[in-house]
Amino acid sequence: MNKKQRRWRNRIVIALVIFFTVLAVEQSGLLSTLFGTPGDVYASFALFLVPYLIAGYKTLLEAARNIRRGDPFDEAFLMSVASLGAFAMVFFPETEPHMAEGAAVMLFYQVGELFQSYAVGQSRKSIAAMMDIAPEYTNVEKDGELVELDPAEVAVGETIVVKPGERMPIDGVVTEGTSQLDTAALTGESVPRHVGPGANVVSGCVNMTGVLRVRTTKPYGESTVARILELVENASEKKARTENFITRFARVYTPVVTVSAALLAVVPPLAGLGAWSDWILRGLTFLVVSCPCALVISVPLSFFGGIGGASNLGILVKGSNYLELLAHVDTAVFDKTGTLTSGTFNVVAVHPESGVDPDYVLSMAAHAESFSDHPIAVSVRAAYSGDIDREKIEDTREESGHGVSARVSEHLVLVGNDRLMAEHGTAWHNCDLTGTILHVAVDGEYVGHIVIADVVKEDAATAIADLHAAGVRRCVMLTGDRQDVAEAVASRLGIDEVRAQLLPQDKVEAVEHLLKSEKDGARLAFVGDGINDAPVLMRADVGIAMGAMGSDAAIEAADVVLMDDKPSKIAQAMRVARKTMRIVWENIVFALGVKLLILVLAAFGIANMWLAVFGDVGVAMIAILNAMRCMRVERD
Ligand code: ADP
Ligand code: MG
Repeated sequence: MNKKQRRWRNRIVIALVIFFTVLAVEQSGLLSTLFGTPGDVYASFALFLVPYLIAGYKTLLEAARNIRRGDPFDEAFLMSVASLGAFAMVFFPETEPHMAEGAAVMLFYQVGELFQSYAVGQSRKSIAAMMDIAPEYTNVEKDGELVELDPAEVAVGETIVVKPGERMPIDGVVTEGTSQLDTAALTGESVPRHVGPGANVVSGCVNMTGVLRVRTTKPYGESTVARILELVENASEKKARTENFITRFARVYTPVVTVSAALLAVVPPLAGLGAWSDWILRGLTFLVVSCPCALVISVPLSFFGGIGGASNLGILVKGSNYLELLAHVDTAVFDKTGTLTSGTFNVVAVHPESGVDPDYVLSMAAHAESFSDHPIAVSVRAAYSGDIDREKIEDTREESGHGVSARVSEHLVLVGNDRLMAEHGTAWHNCDLTGTILHVAVDGEYVGHIVIADVVKEDAATAIADLHAAGVRRCVMLTGDRQDVAEAVASRLGIDEVRAQLLPQDKVEAVEHLLKSEKDGARLAFVGDGINDAPVLMRADVGIAMGAMGSDAAIEAADVVLMDDKPSKIAQAMRVARKTMRIVWENIVFALGVKLLILVLAAFGIANMWLAVFGDVGVAMIAILNAMRCMRVERD
């Protein structure tokens, strides 16, 4: 509890003590012995007013302020009118007094509000703790000495030193030292990662065992940590349909209830159906129950908790609307390279034309690919053992879905698939090996091809099986790669449909086609690494991107980001989403159901104020406790 909440709590406790003392005095009959009738009513009015004002003066002021602003209909208003109304029964001193109820309404309303504020603060805090990945300082090496700097002040290419127990402040490459990294805060993965010189490290991990010297590769603002924090901060702005519905509902509902309560209090006694005091009391009871705060608080809190729970698993959901959409996914479309496969290709074979040195083919390919970020390019460069002199390379062009062209030492080199060769009118010949074929041509002359194969991710098959088990009807794979490679991967993983040899724009078209065939209310998720597929990520109902090796464009375009690139996280994300939606609806049905019941009872004069107070505060508390369950997710 913070200071404000503690003071608030103390006020409520004092008010409660006074309240129960007064109640005991009133019940003992002491007041009527002392003051007689109707003097006892005036006495209890004065006595109950004390705890009432101590606990509720702020709410009364707030209601008054809202009325002055011309926007009166909120909980403070409902509670103020209801409790003041109960006190106004002092004008009917001949009837049974209801001062206790008036004070009780306000007191328990305050208890509920305090609980709410505590619960919201608590879940914010636990999410903040989960997200406590922001580094406070960085040790930068300057002229052999360590200087402590704000991470934002560290330039790209500087060397930072991260000691055991410290959090990696900025993304970079290890230059010296070996250690174990704890990536749990980022990925939900509890197995430590071993790193040594040359390893890429992302900010937010905790360095566990050894001192690491790291050369920074990104400024702090573009590092993983800063990007994650930004995503989480903005998540609450994108509201789910259910959330907006509740807000709109409350806006209509409160005035309607207020008017009904007024009618209930006035019309029957005018028609001669009973005493004024009876009907006014029923109207007031009506007001108390009808307060929508259980919904107004618990629904956003559920979504907030769901997003927090997902982030604990290394799944960043950029808004509650995406959580809602995820719960209804029935088609999952995957990109192959980098999404279902690891994105690192092994060179299976190099087949030069007769009279050509295989090293020449590999060298030309590696040079031409030297500026590309495509997983193929990275792998070809890794397979080439010689040095790449970037000075010799000019005019590099990447044609997505085709390959690359570049001028290497004045020679025009093409590296790519059949389509690229056909486009440039270069003859090529096919290969019997199953794999991705990179044809290489120099100055229009075919020099041979390189056969590469990518490795299916460890959890890819499980991911597809889990999705099917979760009720996803279709798992589709789209790829720019060759049909035989695509089919081999698909059959190993249990994919339902495959479309191969697609250009990036064909992928958009394919997804559009799939979207059209979606059943009503069913959603389509596209999962990609963002290399050549950012447009599809945007087009799908839910775009899911691989965060660790995905491109910045993908993380930007996606709605959900998987921090550790594991496709099996998709089914987990869906489980969190569905649990959240279930809890949201449980709360809506429960709160409205109980309230409706008490409203009907109140209209018939069966429910009293005490029940109404439960109908408001009790229901709100139960709904909030239920909403907090959204934060708890199982890690496996
Ligand atoms: P995927 O759909 O599997 O992610 P892409 O659309 O990125 O694949 O690429 C499709 C095909 O285009 C690749 O299989 C490859 O034949 C060719 N290609 C794309 N980029 C490159 C590159 N940088 N070098 C060589 N070939 C490439
Ligand atoms: Mg791709």
